[in-house]
Amino acid sequence: MATNQANAPAPADPGLPVSCECGYIQFRTPSSKPAGMAHCHCTNCQKQSASAFGTSLYFPAAQVFPLPAALEAKLSVFTHPTDSGNTMHCYFCPRCGVRMLHACILPDGSRRDKVSFKAGTVDAGCLDWKGMKAKHIFTRSAVIELLPEWECYETYPPAPAPPVGAAVGGEEGKKKEAVEKEEGV
Ligand SMILES: [Zn+2]
Ligand SMILES: [Zn+2]
Repeated sequence: MATNQANAPAPADPGLPVSCECGYIQFRTPSSKPAGMAHCHCTNCQKQSASAFGTSLYFPAAQVFPLPAALEAKLSVFTHPTDSGNTMHCYFCPRCGVRMLHACILPDGSRRDKVSFKAGTVDAGCLDWKGMKAKHIFTRSAVIELLPEWECYETYPPAPAPPVGAAVGGEEGKKKEAVEKEEGV
């Protein structure tokens, strides 16, 4: 019955503090270590971020859902179908409109295993932006100059990319099909 310091659990990871612009929505990411970061230049992200590109932090969905009831009650949800037949659930603050996180629901009703948090909602100084070494994705619709030292992909990185079917490898002649309703961000 001796206390076993060696097996004592590590101090709980408090996660990163997240808030919307007006402060009505406040919570923490499930951990302080996102699985990855991407700057997405797709046209959806340009709209949702009201800017040149959207930046997402990825976390395992199992660590995020179900959302705490108090948080879920405050968030509003905008949904839209994706090209792959899934439904994107976009959570935002009903007061200031800031987009907070995205979760993708598959046709069978299950949730995709990855959730994205909008990185700019992490409170100032709390996220190691440079250390995340973010990829730039969906650069085919980028509206800013892409620097050579950036890791850039026309659409998704080759692997482990989510399934996007025929959308991958779109050439010039397929511009018509280049509807960037990507789902991973
Ligand atoms: Zn707000
Ligand atoms: Zn995007």
